[in-house]
Amino acid sequence: MVDRVVFVAKDVIEENKKLAMRLKGIYDSCGITALEFLGGPGSGKTTLIERLLEYMVKDFKSDEIVYIGGDVATTFDTERISSFGVHTIQINTGGTCHLEVPHIEAAIERLGGIEFLKKRKFLIIENVGNMICPFSFPLGAHARIMVADVAEGVDKFLKHPLSTLVSDIIIINKIDLAEYIGINVNKMIEDAHRINPKAPVFLASAKTRQGINDVYNTLISLSKDLSK
Ligand code: MG
Repeated sequence: MVDRVVFVAKDVIEENKKLAMRLKGIYDSCGITALEFLGGPGSGKTTLIERLLEYMVKDFKSDEIVYIGGDVATTFDTERISSFGVHTIQINTGGTCHLEVPHIEAAIERLGGIEFLKKRKFLIIENVGNMICPFSFPLGAHARIMVADVAEGVDKFLKHPLSTLVSDIIIINKIDLAEYIGINVNKMIEDAHRINPKAPVFLASAKTRQGINDVYNTLISLSKDLSK
């Protein structure tokens, strides 16, 4: 017999949820709006964030915006976002398929901690590209934004009901491709609404900029509501 310590996934998830609530409290006390983007690899999260930043850096100072990029190994996305002049930091998980609260806490600490956050208005977190794990580990964001693209299949939401359920906003991206690959977008919208009636569903194309303005306005409204 040997001594052993066994961790089960549920406990890890529950512990992370408690830490996420604490982190949300920090965001609130700093007056920063935290937006988390989640979705499968290649769904267009980074490009969508770029399109949103095109608006955001006109309405706000780039110094007021922070981006934390989660990626297994590369800095590609964070390099793209840093061209907007916003504060950026990369988290490389070294193989883990999702970010957890300690990752975000470490990134904030590296940026300058609470005093740094207090001077910012928006925290944009791009999670590791994965449709399952990131959704089970909230990071205290005020909105969890799922990016699902039409090329991932018409049954995307049905195949990932829990991920769909915990999302606050759902974006069906690459809408410009739908007609070419024969995807019934209305079916996708119906599925998303059925699984999660509370989450607004947006049709967008980060490439053509279709629908981006509506998404942006929704996020700004959310931020204004939070600061009331
Ligand atoms: Mg990306």
